[in-house]
Amino acid sequence: MRLEIDPKVVAKLAEQCEETNWQFRTFLKGVDLEIEELDTIVHRYYEDVASQINCCACGNCCRSVTPILQEYDVDRLATGLNLSREEAIKRFLVTDFRARYGDIMY
Ligand code: SF4
Repeated sequence: MRLEIDPKVVAKLAEQCEETNWQFRTFLKGVDLEIEELDTIVHRYYEDVASQINCCACGNCCRSVTPILQEYDVDRLATGLNLSREEAIKRFLVTDFRARYGDIMY
């Protein structure tokens, strides 16, 4: 079986198979296995699939996932870029809505 690794194709397949995926989730919720047993099976499949994927070659997550940084991450980012904290925020970060509620995250 060929593993599809193109994120765009995977997203389209997920859309096409949405009903089947829901049925599978329902099946898993009712399956007569201890959670540890199910975990073991899932991790075995994960290892098999993950060993065939090169995230560095794909890079989709880096292009599409927006990380949320904590205060200390901002300091580390600024240090790593040899910039002041303020310059790093101005050049690379956007304020998350949660910043308005006192829990400072960028
Ligand atoms: S970077 Fe890795 S985890 Fe992210 S979409 Fe590509 S293969 Fe998947």
